[in-house]
Order: sequence, then structure tokens, then C-alpha cells
Amino acid sequence: MEYKLIDRILALSNLVGHAKLAYVEADSQLCVASWNQGAQNLFGYSEDDTMGRMLNGLIPINKRQLLNCKKTQLVTCSHMNNRGEKIQCDIFFTPIMNFNGERLGVAVLAKDITGRLNDKKSLMRQERSLSDIVDFAPIGIYHVNMEGNVTSANPEFAWMMGYETADAVTEAITDFATQVFYDPEKAEEFIFAIYEAEEVSRFRCRLKKKDGSFVWALCYAKITWNDSGRINGFNGFSIDISETVRAEQGQKEANERLKMLSVMDGLTQIPNRRKFDEYLASEWKRHNRSDARMSVILCDIDFFKLYNDNYGHQAGDACLQKVARTINDCIHRPADLAARYGGEEFAVILPNTDAKGAMVVSERVRTAIENLRLEHDKSAVCDYVTLSSGVATMLPGGNDSADALVGLADKGLYEAKENGRNQSILKRQRYPDK
Ligand code: GH3
Ligand code: MG
Ligand code: MG
Repeated sequence: MEYKLIDRILALSNLVGHAKLAYVEADSQLCVASWNQGAQNLFGYSEDDTMGRMLNGLIPINKRQLLNCKKTQLVTCSHMNNRGEKIQCDIFFTPIMNFNGERLGVAVLAKDITGRLNDKKSLMRQERSLSDIVDFAPIGIYHVNMEGNVTSANPEFAWMMGYETADAVTEAITDFATQVFYDPEKAEEFIFAIYEAEEVSRFRCRLKKKDGSFVWALCYAKITWNDSGRINGFNGFSIDISETVRAEQGQKEANERLKMLSVMDGLTQIPNRRKFDEYLASEWKRHNRSDARMSVILCDIDFFKLYNDNYGHQAGDACLQKVARTINDCIHRPADLAARYGGEEFAVILPNTDAKGAMVVSERVRTAIENLRLEHDKSAVCDYVTLSSGVATMLPGGNDSADALVGLADKGLYEAKENGRNQSILKRQRYPDK
């Protein structure tokens, strides 16, 4: 089927209308002969305003350019239209000729490109602000290619890693995994995570600085792709968290110290009553599940009030320290525990120890104290400081509690005092073989 020229012209003008293009025709004298809706929208004149007027007075192309035009030309210009709006437009103009090559007039097609230019400007603005962010961000930002070269880095990353400039980083770091990570196994973990999971989030590690020292960092990474969709490396982000790590470590040490202090006796530097109670309860529970016996020794310095009265409180303190150290030195198994029970009383927990074994330890303690030869003029039993001890052994379980074991040892201690002091008295459970 053949189209007539008029049909094609109609179709074309339809398209021009829909594309919101300005289309204008003027005769050989440049008098406007056609002015469409698009031209009205762009230049601000209505069709009625323009008929018969000179084209060069309506659009930003001068008379000479329009009259001399021999082929299609494009002018991009910025222009104040009839509504006072500043517009940017591409204006194409071309001569209208008949078949004999006579010039009949000029046709103009114009397109509003204000939006496009604005888009470009805003893109440039965005790029500028993005590059400001990268330059001034307090986060190390860098790109690493598939060969492990750092291809770009910001000043913060350079500073973190101990380099003078970002360029020095890109020049120096050619093998990211071995040059940047302080701990090789962390490098492996990091690189594996990137290329397996395609990203790394909250990765805490030590980064190796130029001088070989390290900086604690929190790192993130995200895979990058080239235009053809191939992975070409990753973008990395690292935050210096050395201060935080130092504070955490300090806090941890302080907590451990506090915890240690809370279970140690300040004067004698052996475990305190609280530690004794905790350990006794846990050992009692553990023994409940076995058929092993457990023993406790309660020791009390003889006539210690008189010692204080005679030698003074400070000498009394020094004596307590020596006694505590000596008791502690007399227990050898890792599970044994000696504690200051209170005042001038000490206690020893002996897990997995029967009555015979406990008596051996108790007598070892007692004789060791006597052998210290700590002068005690006012003692009624000896010239030196001595101890009286109650020893108790039980088979934990049934209805008994750990308190019963201590109670039994206390009875033994009472008897030892009654019996003349400087001795150990053993108290057994009433039904030891239940
Ligand atoms: P006994 O042989 O019957 O145990 O007589 P004792 O004098 O040792 O017993 P008593 O309970 O009458 O006195 C205990 C003394 O221990 C009284 C107290 O001043 C002294 N004491 C308790 N804790 C401390 C301490 O931390 N430092 C000093 N220096 N003395 C203490
Ligand atoms: Mg006492
Ligand atoms: Mg005493």
C-alpha cells in the first residue's frame, strides 16, 4: 500500500505534537506561517500572537542566520521566553525548498532541554558532594581490584594506615591481603567472605600500618562490578576503633580485678568468706553426684585477744598474715582451698578427702604454725602462736547440707579449745556409710 505525501505529513505533525516539540514555519521573508502548540509552550507566544510576525523577533535565532541557512543547523541556546521564563533549548532550522531548488521559507523544530541540563547539573553537584564526603569522611574508604591493588583511597584511610597521602597508599599497597591485615588468618576470612557472600559486615580486625604497628578497625566491604557485569574488586570501609578497643580492654581488666578483689581478703591476701561459701556450695553439689567424701577444717588462733593486747593490733595483723600464708602453703592439691573465715579464724575445704587425709592436713597446718615460732608470751598453752582445729568429714548427699559439714567442724574446734587448745579434733558424720 502506498502512502500519499499528505498522509505522511499528517502523521509526522501528529508525532511532533505528541513529542511536545515546537514546530514553526516562516515564508521566505521570515513571516511566521505556522506555529504549533509545542512552540506556544516553549516560546510563550500563542498562534494568534505570531501570525505574520517576523520569526527572528520570536525565537533566539537572528535574521541573517535564518535567511542564509542552506542546510539543517542546530543551535543550543539559553533564552528568556515571552512568559519571562529562562529556558534552555536545542533549535534545529532548515530551509524549505521546492523541487526546483527555490527557497520558499524556513522550518524550525525546537526542543526544551532545561530539564536535561538541570539533571546534568544536579548529577555534577551530586558527584561533587560525594567526592567531598569521601575526602572528608572520618572513615577510611578505598577500592581494591582483583589483583589486590588499592586503586583508590581517601585521606582518612591514608592517615589510618600511616601514609602521608592517599596516592602513597595506592602506590604502596599492591597486595591487600598480605599488606593490610596484621593477622594473616583474618585476611583469609575477610577475602573469603567478600568473594563468597559478596559483602562483609562488621568485621573487627587489626590493620597493619606502614611502620608495622597495628590499628584496630571495624571493616565493611562490598563487591564492585564493571560495565559488563564482571566482578572487578571491592569497595572497603574501615573505621579506626583503637580507642574503643582500649577502653573495652581497660574495662575488662577492671572488671576482672574487681571480681578478684570481691573474693579476696584484703589483709591476708587469701580467699575470703564469700569465696569460701561459694566454693563450699559448689563442691558440695559436685560431691552429691559421687561417692567421695569431703572434709572441712576450721582453725582458730589460740588466745589471740591476748596477743593483740600484748603486742598491739598492728602486730596482730602481721601475725594473721603470716598464719594465713602458712596455712595456704600447707595445702597442695589444686582443688583444696584455704580461706579467712573471719577474725582470727581460717577454714580449709578439702574435696575428695576422707577423715584420715583431712587429719593429716590439719596436723600439718597446726605444726607448721607452731614451727613459725611466733612469740606469744601470754598464751597459756605454748610460748608461741598456736592453732586449735576442728576437722569434719562427710559423704555429701541425702538431706544434709554443706552447713552441716561446717557445723560439725565447729563442734570439733570447740572441743579442741575445751580440751586444752593447740590440737586437732576430728568429727565424723554420725552415719558415714549411709
Ligand atoms: P581462743 O583461744 O578461745 O580462740 O581465744 P581468742 O582470744 O583467740 O578468742 P576471742 O574470740 O576472745 O578473740 C579473738 C580476737 O581476735 C579478738 C580480736 O581482737 C582478734 N581479731 C579478730 N580479727 C582481727 C584482725 O583482723 N586483726 C587483729 N589484729 N586482730 C583481730
Ligand atoms: Mg575466734
Ligand atoms: Mg581464738
